[in-house]
Amino acid sequence: MNEKACLTCHLISTGSICPRCKTPTLSDDFSGIIIVFDPEGSVIAKVMNIKEKGRYALKVR
Ligand SMILES: [Zn+2]
Repeated sequence: MNEKACLTCHLISTGSICPRCKTPTLSDDFSGIIIVFDPEGSVIAKVMNIKEKGRYALKVR
């Protein structure tokens, strides 16, 4: 499974287009996976402007 992270919203997915923001700007060069279960209660989610559950990369290059 070849996972990629979106350069725009940092969501990790396996497709060729980000399922969240529909952009093709994905990179397989990312580090630091965070899993957000509760976007409302997560400080990291707030800092990263994450509003939906999912797996996100901390850094995407
Ligand atoms: Zn995205």
